[in-house]
Amino acid sequence: MRPGTSDWFHRPLLLFFFLFLTVRFEGQSVRLHVDLTDAPRNLYHARLEIPVQAGDVALVFPKWIPGNHRPSGPIGGLTGIRMEAAGRTLRWRRDPLEMYEFHVSVARGVTTLEVSLDAITTLDSAGGGGPAASSNLLDLNWNAVVLYPKGSHSDEVTFVPSVTLPAGWKFGTALPVAHAQGDEVEFAPVSLTTLVDSPLIAGLHYRKIELTKPGEGPLHVMDVIADAETDLAFKPEEISVYQKLVAETGALFGARHYRDYHFLYTLSDQVGGHGLEHHESNDSVSFERTLLDPDLHMLSASLLPHEFVHSWNGKYRRPAGLATPNFQEPMIGDLLWVYEGLTDYLGDLLAERSGLISGDQYRESLAATAAMLDHRTGRTWRPLEDTATSVQTLRMLLSPEWTNWRRSLDYYPEGELIWLEVDALIRQQTHGQHSLNDFCRRFEGGESGQPKVVPYTFEDVVHTLNEVAPYDWSTLLTERVKATSTHAPLGGIERGGWKLVYNDKPNAFDEAAEKRFKFADFSYSIGFSLDKEGKFSDVIVGSPAFQAGLGPGMKLLAVNGRKWTPEVLHAAVKGAQATNLPIELLVENAQFIRSYPVAYHDGEKNPHLERVAGKPDILGEISKPLSK
Ligand SMILES: [Zn+2]
Repeated sequence: MRPGTSDWFHRPLLLFFFLFLTVRFEGQSVRLHVDLTDAPRNLYHARLEIPVQAGDVALVFPKWIPGNHRPSGPIGGLTGIRMEAAGRTLRWRRDPLEMYEFHVSVARGVTTLEVSLDAITTLDSAGGGGPAASSNLLDLNWNAVVLYPKGSHSDEVTFVPSVTLPAGWKFGTALPVAHAQGDEVEFAPVSLTTLVDSPLIAGLHYRKIELTKPGEGPLHVMDVIADAETDLAFKPEEISVYQKLVAETGALFGARHYRDYHFLYTLSDQVGGHGLEHHESNDSVSFERTLLDPDLHMLSASLLPHEFVHSWNGKYRRPAGLATPNFQEPMIGDLLWVYEGLTDYLGDLLAERSGLISGDQYRESLAATAAMLDHRTGRTWRPLEDTATSVQTLRMLLSPEWTNWRRSLDYYPEGELIWLEVDALIRQQTHGQHSLNDFCRRFEGGESGQPKVVPYTFEDVVHTLNEVAPYDWSTLLTERVKATSTHAPLGGIERGGWKLVYNDKPNAFDEAAEKRFKFADFSYSIGFSLDKEGKFSDVIVGSPAFQAGLGPGMKLLAVNGRKWTPEVLHAAVKGAQATNLPIELLVENAQFIRSYPVAYHDGEKNPHLERVAGKPDILGEISKPLSK
């Protein structure tokens, strides 16, 4: 969505609106300076100089944030607003209905409105929920510090941004630098679209890693900041894996839609965990000890591949309902099973193809995903598409209670299973001649060049699939996305030559997650998961625990008369295989305590993939690297 890329005009209704509503700013720029020196106490100070004409001026604060797909603009943190013109303080008022809109009256002869404002960033981490800054590092998402004229197309408002960094901090961003001296940095003029699409990270502990091999283009850079210098211990093997990731995306898509690309990578447990995609960068936060701890490394291995894939799938090709002309226009999320689901599929595959995880780890991850979705009892009432359409509300309900019955952001993991099925089907239909790689190249590739947005519809997806391999894709995908069901779509695993099985051996991903985040998962055996205090996070509808009357929020005190620990419960589940007696759970529900006998005798159940003898290993074929 840069100037000159008017793919919008595929949308006649919006064109109509914008012919009449667009406020034009040709030749005029908004100057924006952000003082970041108070970042350690989560306060950014911004000053804007906005060109105006006399009369009533309406300014808006970005509300619908790309990549969040919802009205998550951090309005709660917007504070200290002051508006001035020609040396006089002006009275502003907020729109009584639209909280993101401000009105001010400008006198004749005034051409510039000066606005100062602060952003409190304690709960603003690119929609991730945690703080955006801490003692040693910060993440600046420009949407938190701008106001712009209501009705503008974000491609047509030009900003001249600059920052003052905390003393001695280094920074990374995809924005082209115009001038830098000491802690003062001024960037080249950019559209509001590009500004919001180009966050800046900065920190006391910083490392820049070049991922482009000599003689290759465009430039790929990893800008890493961390809580401590020791967290930045990149080994040469780690760097070559990310170079391989860059090569794999080139081989997969055949084109790149950016000038340079920056992996803005924060290693910290102090700021909110998120990954947010952009055309020319991704803004991703992982655990502080990701490079030092093999479990944390495995658990977060897909983060950067996922966000990188979005440069093609999500930013360049975008569902029509998410390709909006500015940040006030509502978004429609029904195709997020493509936007996020295909990205999840490719992100995990690229993690494996580039060597961030092993083939065994890839299959363990896939097994964990398949088992979780096969125990989403809410699929009997809620089609997958409704989880995508509901992104605005589901994103706010991330607490675990009754997740299996309510469903969650299932368009991510279930999208992965659906795209695996499509990939395996293409390979079967074409006897191995074609694959989803061909779809990716046709749909997401095209011409390399500057960022732009090419919107698509469901019909466009079906059309391109048919070009790769003729099949009734419309019926298949409509069934997967719009119908209710009793089981997860496991067709991709089965066509891939594997099957989902459960046994007493721990799943590598689930075990690492339980150990790190201190919870205990018995979802596929007795039917619940517990937090570290013994509180039931979720109880699977229809499971033995559910039949016994247990529910989320209750707290486990004892198992068969012995004080609860994960080990005691594991021993009880194993021991029940040799007896007809129920497992006795002593449970507290608010102020009341009682015993719940649970009839379960089938032992521990952890998910894995197992090869089906005699069937071709299509999953193994899918996992093979494409680059040399
Ligand atoms: Zn994503």
